[in-house]
Amino acid sequence: MTVPPAVLTVAGMLTNSLEVAMAQRQAANTPNEAVIAVRGLRKRYGSDEAVRGIDLEVRRGEIFAFLGPNGAGKTTTVEILEGFRTATAGTVEVLGADPANAPAHWRERIGVVLQESQAEPGLTVRECLQLYSGYYRAPRPVDETLALVGLREQADQRATSLSGGQRRRLDVALALAGDPELVFLDEPTTGFDPSARRLAWEVIAGLREIGKTVFLTTHYMDEAERLADRIAVIAAGRIVASGTPQTLGDRNLSAARISLTLPHDASIRDLPEPLAERAQGQGGGHVLIESHTVAADLHALSGWALARGFDLDDLDVTRPTLEDVYLSLTQSETATETARSQR
Ligand code: ATP
Repeated sequence: MTVPPAVLTVAGMLTNSLEVAMAQRQAANTPNEAVIAVRGLRKRYGSDEAVRGIDLEVRRGEIFAFLGPNGAGKTTTVEILEGFRTATAGTVEVLGADPANAPAHWRERIGVVLQESQAEPGLTVRECLQLYSGYYRAPRPVDETLALVGLREQADQRATSLSGGQRRRLDVALALAGDPELVFLDEPTTGFDPSARRLAWEVIAGLREIGKTVFLTTHYMDEAERLADRIAVIAAGRIVASGTPQTLGDRNLSAARISLTLPHDASIRDLPEPLAERAQGQGGGHVLIESHTVAADLHALSGWALARGFDLDDLDVTRPTLEDVYLSLTQSETATETARSQR
């Protein structure tokens, strides 16, 4: 692997393993503590403000997904958290330190998986990991890490000959070489086929199982839904919503949609009250009913259908998906921002 300059610099700066071990021990004793705390973070590039006063809190041991459309400010924020960019205003604490002025041993406690990396010609997977482990004074055992990311069978294979999905797993392994407490994963499954994505999800969920905190950026809603304990959505530099995958944007409070097709001899007016009032025709006898009382509405509907000897063949009940909620949150913020900038 080509060692990122930051890693080389850091390797030269590493202080002693005692500080790292003490920090890790303290960490193990403080579950639920904020690992990342951000208040009023702003970042300006010339006259453009990419991040406009955001607050974030990430707790120890959780997978936190940071979502947002292209240009929303995710990379800017993440790189400030990683200490690779400086903030214009606001306070940032990551593992108890300001990343911009963190001591050298602080960096040993975080792992970063970038969107792209390059394999080191000539080295096997195990050798790449051994090389990285050599930069740390308290590295994870190489074989444990290979097993965690599912690369045991490829350990003696050249890194340049791995498939794309295997390469990403090696990237994760390298980020874990120093046994960090906090791992930043930047779009870890972009370009994966469905089965490679599932495997990657298992690896990421495995990180939580061994007590790591994961800060995940992704454009895939199913990935966030599957993995994240909590989500924050950024749009046009502002946090527009945060919550669990179930509660984001009041998703849990949104109306369910009941859909069905009416028999030929029935119309919306024939539906039992109060369903008839709420039902919307969709053409071809298809009907959509928004419902906050699903059990009662289905009870009324099934009683009505049974009385008419009619089977509700295509009856379906759906709730807004995470993607529906995400699109509505980000589109409205982007539209508001466009209107603001045109004023
Ligand atoms: P994507 O999903 O496309 O990666 P993002 O959410 O990560 O987008 P950022 O890369 O943080 O977005 O960019 C936010 C805004 O800041 C964009 O308008 C971008 O053009 C601008 N920007 C980012 N980096 C710089 C820079 N170094 N100099 C000037 N402007 C920048």
